[in-house]
Amino acid sequence: MGREKILIVDDAPTPLRALGELLKDDYDLYTATNGQEAIKRAGEILPDLVLLDVMMPGMDGYAICSTLKKDPATADIPVLFITAKSEPNDIVRGFEAGGHDYIAKPFNPRELFARIRTHLELRRSRQDLRSYAEELERRNEELNRVRERLEVMARIDPLTGLANRRYALERLSSELSRSARHGDPFSLAMADIDDFKQFNDTHGHEGGDTVLKSVADIFVASVRKEDMAARWGGEEFLLIFPRLTMDGTMAVAEKLRAAVEAGRPEFKRKKLKVTVTIGVAEYDISLDLDANISRADGAMYEGKRATKNCVIAARPTT
Ligand code: GH3
Ligand code: MG
Ligand code: MG
Repeated sequence: MGREKILIVDDAPTPLRALGELLKDDYDLYTATNGQEAIKRAGEILPDLVLLDVMMPGMDGYAICSTLKKDPATADIPVLFITAKSEPNDIVRGFEAGGHDYIAKPFNPRELFARIRTHLELRRSRQDLRSYAEELERRNEELNRVRERLEVMARIDPLTGLANRRYALERLSSELSRSARHGDPFSLAMADIDDFKQFNDTHGHEGGDTVLKSVADIFVASVRKEDMAARWGGEEFLLIFPRLTMDGTMAVAEKLRAAVEAGRPEFKRKKLKVTVTIGVAEYDISLDLDANISRADGAMYEGKRATKNCVIAARPTT
């Protein structure tokens, strides 16, 4: 750290010289002899402390101090009044103008020194505190960003970018409470890629991954914003349709099935034939969540046993 800078403001040359003699070995000194100059120099030098005479022609010390305190660049610089005006009223005015201390002329050099040192130390402590606070704030923001990223990562399947099973379950539970509140229906569909193993076997894992991504993209593009397509696991996808009954969901599921069939994703210049089998169930609130998912799953397996590449409705519960 370089030497600390002190700006001495006094219209009379004698006290200026005396102060200068006293302080020049320990501090870098700057001087000003009137208000305008004092404010200008303070802005340029940004001293660590200002010693300020009160009585000066034109702008007096109080006015200079107030002006310095109004400018954010100079507001934090401690101002010490050094003056012969040391009636209690004058002292109070000095503090009201934003001064940090008030030293009566003639001053005792050792006392003045001690006060200057104290105010410089206080200023350093304030600056340290502020930079600690800023550093804390920065780290806090960074932590928040990391936490948000982690939260997203914890809910998103990295391969397809779809909601993962955990996120789907969260969504199901909020759909459940909403439907309990409003009596709205909602439906589920379980979609499973047909003969998916064959893509891995023929084209390697990368080929399988391409198929998974393509089906995910088709699902995302084909459902409404309020619906959710999630990767339930492996090559199984759970779709959630708020406010849709069985009929509506069957129609959407058929649209999804057809879109996947038409999709023909390309892998290494080959267009792959991809199809899905979808089981659909309207949520039955008399059953628990697992049982509802099982109904959609059961319908999907029925489709697998039948022809695959089809949409099957879960049997009504009785
Ligand atoms: P079905 O028509 O009856 O659904 O048959 P399938 O071949 O699609 O189903 P099966 O359960 O026999 O095989 C699924 C395969 O999916 C087995 C597994 O190795 C593969 N798999 C699961 N997750 C991933 C993944 O993230 N990437 C890739 N490439 N393959 C995966
Ligand atoms: Mg499959
Ligand atoms: Mg499967």
